Amino acid sequence: MEHVLIVRYSEIHLKGMNRPYFEKALVNRIRDAIPDPDIAVEREQGRIFVNGLSDENAFGYAERLCKVFGIHSVSPAVSVEKDWNAVVSGSKQLLDRYLATLPGNMHTFKVFARRADKRFPYNSEMICRELGHELLEAFPSLQVDVHHPEIMFGVEIRKNRAYLYCQELEAAGGMPVGTNGRAMLLLSGGIDSPVAGYMIAKRGVCLDAVHFYSYPYTSERAREKVIDLARQISEYSGSMTLHLVPFTDIQLSIYDNCPKAETTVIMRRLMMKIADRIARRTGAQALITGESIGQVASQTIESLTVTNDAASLPVFRPLIGFDKDEIVSYAKRIGTFETSIQPFEDCCTIFVPQHPVTKPSLDRILLSERVVDFEPMIEKAIAGTEQMTF
Ligand code: ATP
Ligand code: MG
Repeated sequence: MEHVLIVRYSEIHLKGMNRPYFEKALVNRIRDAIPDPDIAVEREQGRIFVNGLSDENAFGYAERLCKVFGIHSVSPAVSVEKDWNAVVSGSKQLLDRYLATLPGNMHTFKVFARRADKRFPYNSEMICRELGHELLEAFPSLQVDVHHPEIMFGVEIRKNRAYLYCQELEAAGGMPVGTNGRAMLLLSGGIDSPVAGYMIAKRGVCLDAVHFYSYPYTSERAREKVIDLARQISEYSGSMTLHLVPFTDIQLSIYDNCPKAETTVIMRRLMMKIADRIARRTGAQALITGESIGQVASQTIESLTVTNDAASLPVFRPLIGFDKDEIVSYAKRIGTFETSIQPFEDCCTIFVPQHPVTKPSLDRILLSERVVDFEPMIEKAIAGTEQMTF
């Protein structure tokens, strides 16, 4: 018996003529996630097989692949010779070990078979019936349940081998990263922006991130938190560069020179402007934020319009119609929530005006901004930006 992962694609089957391009990209993303030269990743008739695994590493790699966009599900499987006796004895061995990992004594199951190779003497219906019978005899703790089985025992008869598995792990779905361009995420330490980045990366977009910090008003710990978040997102999105922009001088200058009620929206515009410039220099085609309509004063339609004006690239806001609790449940699911709620300040939460404008007008804000020449400060902040790659 050889250990192997069966990888099923998500939306790629919709891609018609472009399908080989998406499949190749997915194979590359799988190789990125499993950088081991002894492991072979092969495409075969609408599936990808990861071969050369051991009993020890197979499940860990399967879990890692569940975070690769473009994958619908992964089954840790064993492959045996395409011979009925090998299928039966392999199935018994696999099921015996799997049952030992389950709590409880009695279990329901069903055999699900696919015969891609029609030369195999048993068709799928016969495989289900005969193998089901063999397994029932071998395991008195099993019962058949064709509607809601606890264990869906899978058999796939393919070109060279027969594959057997007990589990189908749900993966992240979406499209392989790298098939849909590149975008720059404005990453704060909050709950929303990591989720926003995840959603865009899920559509196959390569991510980089930019974070603004105002040391010493924001701490070293706040910065570490953002680095942790970037690392967590990169488990899904693949390699990503985080740009850390020193923002203190700009923030102090806004605070000293602009009307208090407008400081937040002006600050958001300057973030956009800098992110836009860094994005263009790195080849990104869009910006991403975690904003949602009405969540705070700087996210009313009027505020978003004024902020938007500072960017030349399109701004993607995938959470625009989400409630906070929906975003929270997403953040929990992707694993960023616990980091996001660590109580370290963000530069947006310092110098917050007591009564921010909620319906700013662009003309009015442009006038307020004119009091300061931000341009040299913007260039200085960009020049002082640090990069970290994950
Ligand atoms: P989040 O939970 O993502 O921080 P939020 O609800 O706190 O969002 P704001 O603080 O107004 O909202 O920020 C709105 C968006 O602006 C964020 O989702 C993020 O994309 C971006 N942003 C805010 N602060 C920063 C920062 N320090 N560096 C980079 N981007 C930021
Ligand atoms: Mg925030």
